[in-house]
Amino acid sequence: MFEVPRLLQLKHMQGLPVSHSEIELSLSARNIRRLLSFQRYLRSSRFFRGVTAQNSLYILDDDYNGQAKCMLEKVGNWNFDIFLFDRLTNGNSLVSLTFHLLSHNGLIDHFHLDMVKLRRFLVMVQEEDYHSQNPYHNAVHAADVTQAMYCYLREPKLAKSLTPWDILLGLIAAATHDLDHPGVNQSFLINTNHYLATLYKNTSVLENHHWRSAVGLLRESGLFAHLTLEERQHMESQLGSIILATDISRQNEYLSQFRTHLDRGDLCLENAGHRHFILQMALKCADICNPCRTWELRDVERKCNLDISPLCDRNSSNIANIQIGFITYLVEPLFVEWARFSNTRLSQTMLGHVGLNKASWKGMLQERSSSEEADPAFDD
Ligand SMILES: [Zn+2]
Repeated sequence: MFEVPRLLQLKHMQGLPVSHSEIELSLSARNIRRLLSFQRYLRSSRFFRGVTAQNSLYILDDDYNGQAKCMLEKVGNWNFDIFLFDRLTNGNSLVSLTFHLLSHNGLIDHFHLDMVKLRRFLVMVQEEDYHSQNPYHNAVHAADVTQAMYCYLREPKLAKSLTPWDILLGLIAAATHDLDHPGVNQSFLINTNHYLATLYKNTSVLENHHWRSAVGLLRESGLFAHLTLEERQHMESQLGSIILATDISRQNEYLSQFRTHLDRGDLCLENAGHRHFILQMALKCADICNPCRTWELRDVERKCNLDISPLCDRNSSNIANIQIGFITYLVEPLFVEWARFSNTRLSQTMLGHVGLNKASWKGMLQERSSSEEADPAFDD
């Protein structure tokens, strides 16, 4: 175990002098071991600026407050409000939710997981490798996707076929699917010759990085150290293929494969390969399910009712157009096929919310254009 950074941190906290060579040793070791982590880089820079890391010990089970516990009793409901849950858990939604789901589904016992290692793994995922400064790709998004994934895994068709291995894999993939997201897209990384783009040969650059970051944390935490080498390798490679499926630029590839299976009616969930494919599709759905949520709808309506300036007005029109395109070309086609696969109340509810969301965005655009026509200030 490499403990130099912790030693330096302790020295720093206690006001003890830290030598230049210690810092150099720490940095070179960290560079080797934590080469790929943006967030850890930021943490180390915070440390050198004299800002100490947040203490994470308060996330123990007994410290959940009553309301958060109540919410967890309904964690399988589609209207679960992840933002409220995040506030109630003091910003620990991802750790609290994932730990609860693994425990509640008997996976900790089934796989003989060490609770301390599991907590350590989840805390590292949430606090070190998700960037809280990212407006979207942060730990709350990961918690939201994990909760959605759980809802899909509970659907009757899946629930009766999935093995504990599938459920463990699905939940860990969801929790880690955007790990160490730098807050920029693949094009930016390629255009700026970022080392990640070079490393992953300009292909699924972010998703490859999320997967590799997840593998790094799994190994560092030793969560699966008691499994055989073969099982660990199997877990890591399956985790990779599920996370890589979230590359939105490959959506058509997955969708046409899904359609072909549904047209032929040949999906057989006794087949491990088919179950794995469904886990990939489920994570793809969970990742872009925001327009299927009720809170997304409330958010759109709130934005529609805001009295905003012409500049924001134009911004809001751009956002509305982007959202309508996103829903039309990515969300609806995916959820229509998912509803063909699993035609349940949840699927129909999600499709209903997508329709309402799209209509709200369109209504917002129409309102903007009619107010522009009525306002002579726009005639220039
Ligand atoms: Zn995501």
